[in-house]
Amino acid sequence: MAVHDLRGRSLGDLRISVTDRCNLRCTYCMPRESFGPNHEFLPRSGLLTFEEIRDVVVAAAPLGVRKLRLTGGEPLLRRDLERLVEMLRIAVPEADIALTTNGVLLSGKAKALADAGLDRVTVSLDAMDASVYAAMADVDHGPEAAMEGIEAALDAGLSVKVNCVVRAGVNEQDIVPLVRTFGPRGITVRFIEYMDVGATNDWSMASVLPGAAVRTMIEEVHGPLNAITPSSPSDVARTWSTKEGWTFGCIDSVTAPFCGDCSRARLSADGALYTCLFSNDGHPLLPLVREGASTEDLRQAILSIWSGRNDAYSEQRNGSAERSGRVEMSYIGG
Ligand code: SAM
Ligand code: SF4
Ligand code: SF4
Repeated sequence: MAVHDLRGRSLGDLRISVTDRCNLRCTYCMPRESFGPNHEFLPRSGLLTFEEIRDVVVAAAPLGVRKLRLTGGEPLLRRDLERLVEMLRIAVPEADIALTTNGVLLSGKAKALADAGLDRVTVSLDAMDASVYAAMADVDHGPEAAMEGIEAALDAGLSVKVNCVVRAGVNEQDIVPLVRTFGPRGITVRFIEYMDVGATNDWSMASVLPGAAVRTMIEEVHGPLNAITPSSPSDVARTWSTKEGWTFGCIDSVTAPFCGDCSRARLSADGALYTCLFSNDGHPLLPLVREGASTEDLRQAILSIWSGRNDAYSEQRNGSAERSGRVEMSYIGG
């Protein structure tokens, strides 16, 4: 039973945030000034349990959800995450189950996650240079742990991609080194334009390096690029290959928005459904789940939320838009 929103877009992906906590403080996502020692994270009792997440997924799956992505915050901070993967694999055997992680804790978890039924992992890694990595993530270490995590994921048989958020003037010199590190390994790095998500980062248009500039930088070193035809219209990344056959992608969410094909819903760690990354408010499902709603009741609730969806923030973006009150990415999941 496919469900369509007010713009005719179907529901295909569910991104599930399993925690709002993180072991990094990326300046573009959880700046330390806002997410310092006094920040109040969600109480444990307010998080959806694995069983409750599974119940929402089971309700959503017949509406067309085929891709599940576990995210956060840092999803590997949630204890025994592999148990959730296993539960989802059993509940929706045909689903594509992916994980987005900063990779710091991945080396110890990759095999258990793969054994539980995880298909894919995306590791966020913004620089190969240790000091640039440390500056982007606001930590005192380089990318070593994330790199070990990537190796462990490959060893475990998981398909791996790398995400890099590009901030103009901060990590743009790491674009070519990232392609040169991962290209020969058959790992696609996807360069993401820095977005004005949430209300705490210091986004301005000047801090966005357009994807076109990313491609030019790679072209200057590796020669003309070959555009690869997308496998699905809802692919947010456009992909190119270099003459060496190395692939990389660009997610030009600011300069070339893709709201027209957006099939993603987001479930926050405390059980609210968001229909856009730039929403102010979610639709709370937790009360329904905790009141013992049937799968059919939950499905009807999700169907009605998606049917009323009209979001297209990135296409309507206007630099002066009011940001206060907007939900943070670490809370609803990127
Ligand atoms: N902690 C995990 C990680 O970093 O992969 C999962 C959650 S994180 C919010 C998901 C993705 O969102 C990451 O790839 C991150 O780089 C991206 N992200 C966070 N803030 C962003 C922003 N302001 N603009 C673009 N991408 C952003
Ligand atoms: Fe944490 Fe991921 Fe946000 Fe970085 S991007 S602060 S790793 S949630
Ligand atoms: Fe989807 Fe909202 Fe992003 Fe547009 S701005 S692509 S509707 S999440």
